[in-house]
Amino acid sequence: MSKNLSKIAKAKKIKYFLISFVDLFGVLRSKLVPTRAIDEMQKNGAGFAGFATWLDMTPADTDMFAIPDPHSLIQLPWNKEVGWLASDLWMSGKPVKASPRVMLKEQIKKLNTKNLTMKSGVECEYFLITQDGKKIADERDTQSKPCYDQSALMRRYDLIKEICDSMIELDWNPYQNDHEDANGQFEMNWDYSDCLTTADRHVFFKFMVKSLAEKHGLRATFMPKPFQNLTGNGCHAHISLWEGKQNKFLENGEKLGLSKTAYNFLGGIMKFAQPLTAFFNPAINSYRRINAPPTKSGASWSPSSISYSGNNRTHMIRVPDPGRFELRLMDGATNPYLLQAGVLAAGIYGLVNKIDPGEPLSCNMYTDYKKYPDLKKLPDSIEDSLDELNNSKEIKEAFGEDVINSFVKLKKMEIEEFNKEENFDKKKEVTSWEKENTLDC
Ligand SMILES: [Mg+2]
Repeated sequence: MSKNLSKIAKAKKIKYFLISFVDLFGVLRSKLVPTRAIDEMQKNGAGFAGFATWLDMTPADTDMFAIPDPHSLIQLPWNKEVGWLASDLWMSGKPVKASPRVMLKEQIKKLNTKNLTMKSGVECEYFLITQDGKKIADERDTQSKPCYDQSALMRRYDLIKEICDSMIELDWNPYQNDHEDANGQFEMNWDYSDCLTTADRHVFFKFMVKSLAEKHGLRATFMPKPFQNLTGNGCHAHISLWEGKQNKFLENGEKLGLSKTAYNFLGGIMKFAQPLTAFFNPAINSYRRINAPPTKSGASWSPSSISYSGNNRTHMIRVPDPGRFELRLMDGATNPYLLQAGVLAAGIYGLVNKIDPGEPLSCNMYTDYKKYPDLKKLPDSIEDSLDELNNSKEIKEAFGEDVINSFVKLKKMEIEEFNKEENFDKKKEVTSWEKENTLDC
């Protein structure tokens, strides 16, 4: 039974709803709808002009409607009058195939036909910077190895506590907050869930962190690499497949504690890591983080080659514990829905085709990569990753050729805009175009 938003609004004293959606570039868009109009919107959706967003539509297209998912409702902890809703896009009575939440739901449906669900958790790193975006906000945060710096963490106690308290109130079960490996960088962790819930929460988390940082006179950025010499913002994901309450990735006694199902799923992700970087690392700026030289702290903490390992962070995939693996490829610019959808599409292919990922490696990949010349490398630029995506028959089949064509077309338009003003050179400083267009990603 669908929840009645009008009744919930009355009970929770919600005056306005944010009916929101995320476009192909990960931009969060919404309409603020007074409660008096929510009955109609719950049924028929809020109207938008699709062309005004990154969704490959034309100005002549008919209205697009965002139909809210009442199960996604989140009452803003810092402004209880407002309820946030994730929505699915519809046009002319059909779901918009090339829209991220719909794309994810399609992949979930495919997995469900095998009686499986995917659970996932995400680790969204972010920087706290000055409002003008020029530097990190805390001038005293200068250690060369600043990871877990207690003093720098506690100088941001008021903000971190407000975000963490919000997650407690929302029942996300947050369990730790820390200063990360770059000066000015933080991470907060909450429990994993089914992958659609995690994607919705990931969208909301970014909105919440940015909003609360602003309230505290700061600016938060999830930009993959805002500062050339510092570690970038990763967005690692922890993945497992379940049948009811049973973790189908878990095999006790196996060397990494993984089942055949887990290895096949992982094999699919390794096979399609190159084309999927276009989803996982979608910004021009993303390619300063992967294939990067060591940073001021001594490591980039991001992968260059396509490899997997046990509990070893120098590889693209790490198996920290039995029954799950961590994919370390994604960055802060990844679209929360396409992250999960990409993992699912590749993983399902791996399951169906019983892909064998080979043996895990245990070397320090940051220093020993030259000993493994046969390993496939990650794309070096957004152009390369879009070419890989465009040439992947299997990924096109998984999402539909039109959907991938739309994504590639829009990203190429963006690159054209960039190239009018700048040249992408990893050895040089982050360009002002990248900052202007990616700081608020
Ligand atoms: Mg981290």
